[in-house]
Amino acid sequence: MYLPQEIIRKKRDGEVLTADEINFFIQGVANNSVSEGQIAAFAMTIFFNEMTMPERIALTCAMRDSGMVIDWSHKNFGGPIVDKHSTGGVGDVTSLMLGPMVAACGGFVPMISGRGLGHTGGTLDKLESIPGYNITPTNEVFGDVTKDAGVAIIGQTGDLAPADKRVYATRDITATVDNISLITASILSKKLAAGLESLVMDVKVGSGAFMPTYEASEELAKSIVAVANGAGTKTTAILTDMNQVLASSAGNAVEVREAVRFLTGEYRNPRLLEVTMASCAEMLVLGKLADNTEDARAKLMQVLDNGKAAECFGKMVAGLGGPADFVENYDNYLGKADIIKPVYADESGVVSAMDTRAIGMAVVGMGGGRRVATDTIDYAVGFDHFIRLGEQASSDKPLAVIHARNEAQWQEAADALKQAITVGGEYTPTPEIYRQIRPEDI
Ligand code: URA
Repeated sequence: MYLPQEIIRKKRDGEVLTADEINFFIQGVANNSVSEGQIAAFAMTIFFNEMTMPERIALTCAMRDSGMVIDWSHKNFGGPIVDKHSTGGVGDVTSLMLGPMVAACGGFVPMISGRGLGHTGGTLDKLESIPGYNITPTNEVFGDVTKDAGVAIIGQTGDLAPADKRVYATRDITATVDNISLITASILSKKLAAGLESLVMDVKVGSGAFMPTYEASEELAKSIVAVANGAGTKTTAILTDMNQVLASSAGNAVEVREAVRFLTGEYRNPRLLEVTMASCAEMLVLGKLADNTEDARAKLMQVLDNGKAAECFGKMVAGLGGPADFVENYDNYLGKADIIKPVYADESGVVSAMDTRAIGMAVVGMGGGRRVATDTIDYAVGFDHFIRLGEQASSDKPLAVIHARNEAQWQEAADALKQAITVGGEYTPTPEIYRQIRPEDI
C-alpha cells in the first residue's frame, strides 16, 4: 500500500521510483483519488529531478493503460499497423499525405491526431476545414475506414490515456510542460494506446520547433525512441528542420488544398516532399513493407505518381463523412477568404532567416488557430505561395500570399510577416533532415 505524498517525497529527494509506485500514482490520477495539488507536486519533482529510462517506461505504460488500449486483431487488417507523430510545426501538413502514401504501399495507419497547440498547426483543425469530415467517429467506423482506405485520421477520444489528460491540464498551469520525461510519457501514452506495431517520430528542430535547441530536440528524440521500444513498440525518430514554414502554405484550408495538390502531382514543394518521404520510408522499413530506404522511396514515388495515394486519401475523406469527390473538386468545398493578395518585402534581397514561431502566431492572430481552447477557428485564413530561405524576394516575388477576412487583418498579417522574415544578410542553408535516431544509436 502506497501513499501519493510518500511517492512525491521519494522523488523529491532524488530517489528512483519503482514501476509499482508509478502505477499506483497514475491509477490514482485516473480514478481521482490523487488531487490536482499532488499531480502538480509530482510533475514539479520530475521537472527538477528527471526520470530514469525505466521510470519513463513505467510512466508511459501506466498512462497508456489508464484507459482503453485499442486492439485491432479482430479487424484482420492484413498488413502492418504503423503511424507517425510530429512534435508540431508551421505548415507541417505531412500527415495528410503520409497516411495515404503508406496506405497505398500496404500499411495501415490508424492515426490519432491533435489540435493546434500554441504557434503550431493541428492536423485535426486542418481536416475539419473539409465539410462533413467527422473527427470523432465510433471505434467501429475508425477501424472500418482504416481497413478500407488504409488510413483514418481522427481525434483523441476521452477513453484513450485519460490520465495524461489530467496530468497535462495540471502541467499546463504549473510551468511543468517543458520537461523531457513528462513530454515523452505524454506523447507516447496517447500514441501507444492506438494499438500500433511501429511508430516514426518526427522531432522538429529550429525557429518554429517546440524544443528550444537542437540538443534538446535530439534529447527528446532519443528519449522517445528508448521509451517506446522499451514499452514494446518498434520506434525510430528523425530530426527535421523547422527553421522555415515547411509547406508553401500555413493555415487550415490552404494546407489541405496543398496536400491534395501534392497527392495528385499538381504541385510538390521540394522540402515538404523530402520530409514526407523520409518519414514514410522509415514507416515502410519498420513495417517490413520495404527492404531498405531506397526500396521504400521507389515504392512511395510510384504510389504518388500512379494516383494510388490520392485514391486512399479520397476514400478516407469519404469514409469519414466528407465529400465523395473531394480530391477531384476540392476547390468547390474548401472555404475561401475575402481578401487574397500578396505581400512584398520593403526591399529586394535574399531571404536569410525566418522566425517561424512568429509566422505561426500570425496565423493564430488571423483566427486560423486558438489562443484559448474554446476559440473557434476561421478555416479559410492563412498564407500560401510562401517564399523559402535562400530565395530572392523582389517586386516580382512576394513573401507570401495572405488570405484574410478584411483589410485590417491583411495589414496586420503583412506587418507580422515582414517582421518575421529577414531579407538580406548572410544565408546559411539548413538541411531538411538532420539525422535519424534508431534504437542502436542511443
Ligand atoms: N504534446 C503532448 O501531447 N504532450 C506534451 O507533454 C507536450 C506536447
